[in-house]
Amino acid sequence: MTRFLPALLASAALSAILPAQARAELDVSVLKSTIAGSVERDYPSLDALYKDIHAHPELAFQEVKTAAKLAAEMRALGFEVTENVGKTGLVALYRNGDGPTIMVRTELDALPMEEKTGLPYASHDKTNWNGRETFVAHSCGHDIHMASWVGAAKTLVELKDKWHGTLMFIAQPAEEIVSGAKAMIADGLFTRFPKPDFGFALHDSPGPYGSVFYRVGIGSSNSDSLFVKFHGRGGHGAAPQATLDPVMMAARFVVDVQSVISREKDPTEFGVVSIGAIHGGTAENIIPDDVTLLGTIRTFKPEVRAKMLAGIERTAKAVAAMADAPAPEIKIVEGAKAVVNDAGVVATAEKVLKVAFGDKFRTSPPGTPSEDYSEYVNAGVPSMFFNIGVYEPERVAAARDGSGPVLPSNHSPLFAPVPRPTIETGVTAMTLAVLSAFDEHARGR
Ligand SMILES: [Zn+2]
Ligand SMILES: [Zn+2]
Repeated sequence: MTRFLPALLASAALSAILPAQARAELDVSVLKSTIAGSVERDYPSLDALYKDIHAHPELAFQEVKTAAKLAAEMRALGFEVTENVGKTGLVALYRNGDGPTIMVRTELDALPMEEKTGLPYASHDKTNWNGRETFVAHSCGHDIHMASWVGAAKTLVELKDKWHGTLMFIAQPAEEIVSGAKAMIADGLFTRFPKPDFGFALHDSPGPYGSVFYRVGIGSSNSDSLFVKFHGRGGHGAAPQATLDPVMMAARFVVDVQSVISREKDPTEFGVVSIGAIHGGTAENIIPDDVTLLGTIRTFKPEVRAKMLAGIERTAKAVAAMADAPAPEIKIVEGAKAVVNDAGVVATAEKVLKVAFGDKFRTSPPGTPSEDYSEYVNAGVPSMFFNIGVYEPERVAAARDGSGPVLPSNHSPLFAPVPRPTIETGVTAMTLAVLSAFDEHARGR
């Protein structure tokens, strides 16, 4: 050992004095075919993992079996795994010399709904959710993300001579209720474990498989939950003059609140309010005492959000005042913040992913759903959040030009990604994005 030391020291000293630019640029086409070979060999096990997780989904903060499956995969790859971070989350670290820490996040949770795809690996599982029995389904494709996450970890470990630093693969619970990221951070994600220098996450979407969609800046919406309760005075449906009708107030609010969007908000800015539930009344001839409405408010920019919240609140109060009813109860609960992609991280990944995917790597407008990945960004992890398509490109084209049926989107009971090309794209894009960040850092840029 000792006699090699001087030579080792000399080569270390030499690499220290060589300008950073002396490193060859990443040979993306060679890397891409190496990754393709690795995914090809590995696909049967990723497919089995995907279908197993798909058939046995678990809801937010109940993802015990799902997390255990991922923990076993990561331990087998040599990652150091800590379970139960933020209740059911896990953190998997792989240290490979000096260099940055790069985080890759997947979600663990599924949705409380019945899958209707008829796929041989469809979920028929049920569970308890808020005191009621419900079906459970991976209709948001988080199972695709998990398979891609494990696949990217395998590929990066195989390619470990191409990078130095630490991989921090995290599996987050409860994304669908935008609570898991907060729970992991509160449980010491960035204090008990290294704080990542960069972060990446992907989400599937109903576009063509083989394609990757990205954007600089705002990538997803701010989400706020709306709760309004109109208090009236119940009575006989045949004698409304003796009542204060909260059903009438609710109906008026549902319609009038849309004028906040169309008349108050700048029409060139994104903002939406949707009422998803109205609860009130028991019979056709009874005017109830009160009616409750639940809705969601989505925006991209804080100033648009503030304007909309004020308008929504004012409309609810005005509707009650018109009916001469008491002021309504209004609760607006802040959900996820918009995910904002880091220009530097995106620019670095962009160079590599453009070469790898050509015109299948494209910018896209921000998505209107929300994502609690924003918690990591807001905690100081410069990141890139991108999307991958899931359907046959021909079917997507036919749906777009109207010659074929509309394809089911995420959260549809019919959402059914084509597993292999989707997972292959997820693994390839994520591996290359992570390698690009390690490489850029090694060049001192
Ligand atoms: Zn979802
Ligand atoms: Zn999702």
